[in-house]
Amino acid sequence: MNCENRKIILSAYLDGEVTAEEKREIEEHLKKCSVCSNELKKLQKISSLLKEPPKIKLSSQFEKRLKEKLNISSESDILKKLSQTLGKIKEKIEKPHPEIMTIGDLSSYLQISVEAIWRCLREIPSFKIGDQLRFRKKSIDEWLRKKEASHYEPYEKEPEIKMELFEEFRV
Ligand SMILES: [Zn+2]
Repeated sequence: MNCENRKIILSAYLDGEVTAEEKREIEEHLKKCSVCSNELKKLQKISSLLKEPPKIKLSSQFEKRLKEKLNISSESDILKKLSQTLGKIKEKIEKPHPEIMTIGDLSSYLQISVEAIWRCLREIPSFKIGDQLRFRKKSIDEWLRKKEASHYEPYEKEPEIKMELFEEFRV
């Protein structure tokens, strides 16, 4: 047995995850090596603490399998993934409405339901990539400004409109 790998090997030994031959080899080594036998005692202490209720047993394979499931190979990858996720959350908080919006984004931006958007989809500027419907925030804002203008006529424009009407009557 290689002393450098003793922590891994000894914890596998404690968990009964070694072959009969490995077990015999380890026990042979433990008789001769005080460093490893002390290490084993420490591990046994930790292990007995961990085995107290609640009785959740995580095998030495657990971390490996978890990492495989999460598709990450090292701790720095975990940190990278975490910081990416945090970055995305931060972005959402700071800029809740992205430049290119999905129908869900638009629904929250306009404060109206997705169904209502579907109903008046023809008048809302949108574009498709493949079968994916998207809205550009800039175009939506422009469209909103036009919509606002048609609902609201400022006072100073009133005489101008009247002049035009008057002009029409003269012809
Ligand atoms: Zn040793």
